[in-house]
Amino acid sequence: MFTPTKLLLLGLILAVIWYGYRIIEKRNEAAKHKRDQTSADATVDMIECKTCGAWVDAKDGCSICG
Ligand SMILES: [Zn+2]
Repeated sequence: MFTPTKLLLLGLILAVIWYGYRIIEKRNEAAKHKRDQTSADATVDMIECKTCGAWVDAKDGCSICG
């Protein structure tokens, strides 16, 4: 039946599972954070060209009228 040794072993197994879950959770969180940052980098700021009115990349400037 339930001997102290078995209970201790059960507790140890539960602790290992709990720690494993925490590690996976942390890894998922880090991966999600990284994904969010990547998608933020992928977005481009658009500005309207004052000369021709076209929406262009804010960093590169207007490619239509220079
Ligand atoms: Zn322009």
